[in-house]
Amino acid sequence: MQVVEQAPLQGLNTFHVSARARYLVTLESPAELADFLADPRFAALPLFVLGGGSNLLLTGDFPGVLLQPHFLGRTVLSSDTGRVRVRACAGESWDGFVGWTVEQGFAGLENLSCIPGHVGAAPVQNIGAYGVELKDVVECVEALDLATGRAVKFTADECRFSYRDSIFKRQPGRYLISAVVFSLPHAFTPRLDYPGVPEALAAQQDSGPLTPARVRRAICAVRHSKLPDPAVLGNAGSFFKNPVVSQSQADSLKAENAAMPVYPAGSGLAKIPAAWLIEQCGFKGYRDGDAGVHEKHALVLVNYGRASGAELWALAEKIRAAVKARFGVELEPEPNKL
Ligand SMILES: Cc1cc2nc3c(=O)[nH]c(=O)nc-3n(C[C@H](O)[C@H](O)[C@H](O)COP(=O)(O)OP(=O)(O)OC[C@H]3O[C@@H](n4cnc5c(N)ncnc54)[C@H](O)[C@@H]3O)c2cc1C
Repeated sequence: MQVVEQAPLQGLNTFHVSARARYLVTLESPAELADFLADPRFAALPLFVLGGGSNLLLTGDFPGVLLQPHFLGRTVLSSDTGRVRVRACAGESWDGFVGWTVEQGFAGLENLSCIPGHVGAAPVQNIGAYGVELKDVVECVEALDLATGRAVKFTADECRFSYRDSIFKRQPGRYLISAVVFSLPHAFTPRLDYPGVPEALAAQQDSGPLTPARVRRAICAVRHSKLPDPAVLGNAGSFFKNPVVSQSQADSLKAENAAMPVYPAGSGLAKIPAAWLIEQCGFKGYRDGDAGVHEKHALVLVNYGRASGAELWALAEKIRAAVKARFGVELEPEPNKL
């Protein structure tokens, strides 16, 4: 276990916001949790589990403990009955793990390529992209109960995954996810029905058979063309979830805004792209000091340099108020605010 007091966090969050944590504690193995729980320095302090900091907005110094698992390892557990079971430890890079599965010839994760962050965070908001969500491929999640120190296991059903949500998101600080077990199909079923993906595949040099590796390259190409690279321009990806409203509210909004895209979201519900609502309110490319909205993507808030987390949050609040005033729709932020 490593402990850093008054730890600088600018390099540990993809917004590159400057802040400090009273303690940053890194664990090299699940066994070290016992030492952490027994240490009186940490007993009464607020606790937050940190992954790669790519879904996080630090609005000031954190007066408690950031606990970061550095557990590494990925293994094939079994390969039979039409599925491959793979296990990855929490501290592995998510995209490094996806790339490894694709190199092995395994299908199922290729559409989730190029999402920043660590494996341990992926179940928390049930990461999703290009028509696939984590819940589609998870067999179980292994975790440490931070209240008791015990190892626990959650089946996919027990994780209660839904759109950008899970039990881990609803109980922050209760569990530290230590590893995730995936069940991947032997059969490759490409999911290409997303704008830009067929075009990116067509633009590839090799026109051989369609493989998970080719789909991964196409997905990464589309993402790189649309989303700012956090290494260059601080951001946390999509800042707001796409709001789900009643079908009747969507119908009346559609009657006044014929161009508004609307997607089905289950019985009596409809999903509206948050990016469209934000763009209509004039925020695409908006900038207030160093806090701004990306010029190509209205859903992505960016730090042009020295914006504080509080300034980025103030901008988010301004956008939410404008969307609420114009459309009567509540936007919910996606990143975790500390
Ligand atoms: C450019 C960019 C593009 C993105 N694109 C997507 C996308 O397409 N789809 C998508 O869903 N997300 C996307 N994201 C958001 C983000 O990458 C994911 O949510 C990612 O899973 C966060 O991982 P992280 O390790 O950085 O987590 P962090 O930001 O460190 O933490 C996120 C949350 O998970 C919790 N957490 C982290 N690790 C653990 C653990 N081991 N145990 C328990 N809780 C833990 C934290 O407490 C926090 O609540 C994007 C972000 C960026 C910057």
